[in-house]
Amino acid sequence: MRFDVITLFPELIETYCSSSIIGRAQKQDLIAVNPINPRDFTSDKHRTVDDTPYGGGAGMVLMCDPIFQAVESVERQENSELIMLTPQGEIYNHETAKELSKKDQLILICGHYEGFDERIREGLKPREISIGDYVLTGGELGALAIIDSVTRLLPGTLGKDESAIHDSFFSGLLEHPHYTRPPEYREMKVPDVLLSGNHKEIDKYRRKQSIKRTYERRSDLFKIFEKSGLSKEDKIILKELGYLQEK
Ligand code: SAM
Repeated sequence: MRFDVITLFPELIETYCSSSIIGRAQKQDLIAVNPINPRDFTSDKHRTVDDTPYGGGAGMVLMCDPIFQAVESVERQENSELIMLTPQGEIYNHETAKELSKKDQLILICGHYEGFDERIREGLKPREISIGDYVLTGGELGALAIIDSVTRLLPGTLGKDESAIHDSFFSGLLEHPHYTRPPEYREMKVPDVLLSGNHKEIDKYRRKQSIKRTYERRSDLFKIFEKSGLSKEDKIILKELGYLQEK
């Protein structure tokens, strides 16, 4: 998987992507992260990439040519997707991360200042993605959110391959709580079942906590889970929790 990131701040991308799991994935050649600076495609002394908006108003707008040239400098692979980070795009979630993890290349365009000249959208026709309903100063955090969440879905990037499948959202539920040593901290105890060594009971406990957490925190996910064809075990858990009425 290759990530080409069009950004005015390549150092932000490089710094994050050289550490921890993403850094290791790069060292293992599981992914490659390649920042591209639109300023390298300017010809004036000041390497200008932005200008004032036609019609007036505050802020600066990213100009077409440096962005078009930066995107066109990228060698496109067959199975690639061009993405623009923008608060006006579709909201990013786990389903999108899964979909993008099947690509061979993501080209991520980060905006800055007031955003993009509209003709960048018109001419390049990127998929527009937002990482939430708030406005950031630049697209780099969005690009990093995509790089990070997609990378951890790729086989071999996590310590144990199966780690990601237990994470929140993977099964449609939030993950159960975790505990580590010591067994008691400031009078807060680790649930006995987790110390019991009884793996069948531990699995049941964790599944129950996962369902409970999703019910309490994310009614949108819980509704989908409820309609997803519940197993016999899950029905028992729902009854125990009082979430399923006996007929
Ligand atoms: N004026 C723009 C608007 O209201 O839609 C916002 C521009 S914002 C200050 C600058 C850049 O940050 C955007 O071009 C985009 O690349 C990035 N950005 C800001 N918020 C974002 C979000 N929620 N998701 C993804 N990218 C975002």
